[in-house]
Amino acid sequence: MGTYHSTRSRTLACSSKDAIRRGLAPDGGLFVSDELGEKKLDVAGLADLSYHQIARTVLGLLLDDYTDAEVAACVDEAYTGTFASPEVTPLVGLDHAPDGGDVPTYVLELFHGPTSAFKDVALQMLPRLMARTGTAEGEAAQKIMIVTATSGDTGKAALAGFADAPGTGITVFYPEGKVSRVQELQMSTQEGGNVAVCGVRGNFDDAQSAVKRIFGDRELAKRLAERGVVLSSANSINVGRLVPQVVYYFAAYAQLLRSGAIQPGDAVEFCVPTGNFGDILAGYYAQRLGLPVARLDVASDRNNVLIDFLKTGAYDRRREFFTTTSPSMDILISSNLERMLYYVSGGDEALVASLMADLSNEGCYQVPEELHQGIRALFDGGWASEEQVASAIKHCWDENGYVIDPHTACGFHVLEELSAAEGARARVLLSTASPYKFPRAVAGALGLDAPADDFACMDVLARATGTVPPRQLAELSEKPVRFADVEDIDQLGAYVEQAAARL
Ligand SMILES: *Cc1c(COP(=O)(O)O)cnc(C)c1O
Repeated sequence: MGTYHSTRSRTLACSSKDAIRRGLAPDGGLFVSDELGEKKLDVAGLADLSYHQIARTVLGLLLDDYTDAEVAACVDEAYTGTFASPEVTPLVGLDHAPDGGDVPTYVLELFHGPTSAFKDVALQMLPRLMARTGTAEGEAAQKIMIVTATSGDTGKAALAGFADAPGTGITVFYPEGKVSRVQELQMSTQEGGNVAVCGVRGNFDDAQSAVKRIFGDRELAKRLAERGVVLSSANSINVGRLVPQVVYYFAAYAQLLRSGAIQPGDAVEFCVPTGNFGDILAGYYAQRLGLPVARLDVASDRNNVLIDFLKTGAYDRRREFFTTTSPSMDILISSNLERMLYYVSGGDEALVASLMADLSNEGCYQVPEELHQGIRALFDGGWASEEQVASAIKHCWDENGYVIDPHTACGFHVLEELSAAEGARARVLLSTASPYKFPRAVAGALGLDAPADDFACMDVLARATGTVPPRQLAELSEKPVRFADVEDIDQLGAYVEQAAARL
């Protein structure tokens, strides 16, 4: 028993450990707990707490069946020596407010982890949480095989998190020839005895669909079970990825308090580059846990399905898909939105189930007016075209001498467009990737010579801006490639089975 259940029904209750082990509820819904926000965090005391201490408090509140000792061990393993900043997620002030107003703006740098994207914050933690889930009652001891399709960032962050994690293995599929050179090398040079990386002949959607078929293949599941292996997902629908992200909203507030920028109780606006709605949903969780949030700004790229939804209350995925310079936000089905609909509707699981059925049958749904109003009271947002992304990178550099990546630039553009939320004493832009992960797009936006080779672009960017590329990216060109496999779509199940045999 436990406090977690599906967004679509309440019949199957489970513990947070079970929810993390399973990833997705059996009815296709996402795991939620109705206890969210019953216990609050003491905001006044935040200034005195380190990132590790805040993480222990937040995880302890949201994952109630982990012992204090387990939580402390997870936090220490995930964040000691893995992030290149003592603050883990440092806050940097901008000289000029993007909207020209007088509310100061800060950037929360979430990219100092091993793969230089914000997903490290959660994916350094998820394997530690998973390793402590034990086995469900009546089950024999099993190893967990993580299977992930990636368009670029998730794959590497998951590989880095799960490499040599006890009791687990990981297989990552990426669309061959459709990720950046830096991203491909990040994955193909991955070290670790339990990892496998494979290119797929097809695009990301093909790889993603193939992985979903692998999860639904009962014959395969049976053969794997005979080897003591069970499949799981490191996708952002897993609560074990969501909860660690709640921490840095509080850590940002703590840094604002320490610098004297705000007083305890002052409200802060957060602007979040969004794809699957995971990162921004963590901000909503923080608010439920007592963080004074003035407003949450959804920032999208040209795939602006979420912004249309905020405006109209109608979610409609039946539209053209655009490949942009912010690939990690190129998403038309924003999975974690389902959790927000659940909570803002007051826990109406029947409504959520029917909306999700509409989405899967019709490709669209319309929320009731009251729910739409409830969402509008919490969230605002906007989106940036490719030209606007480029000019946001340029503006931010010209005005502040600060370089941002194309994902973060979508958020910067939204902060230029929207004036500060009422009552906000500070605006915080979540920066989700190092500009050096996308050196060509950034160099181009700054009007620099952008050579075809990503590593040459890094040099150009470093020289022109006086910034330093993260070592793990700059060194990639010299690391030995371990994986050069490329498979057809119908071979991926067999590939996973072979990888499982090596565990
Ligand atoms: C994944 C990702 C996002 C989007 O985060 P969601 O949690 O899916 O909304 C934004 N920026 C970067 C760099 C990412 O890798």
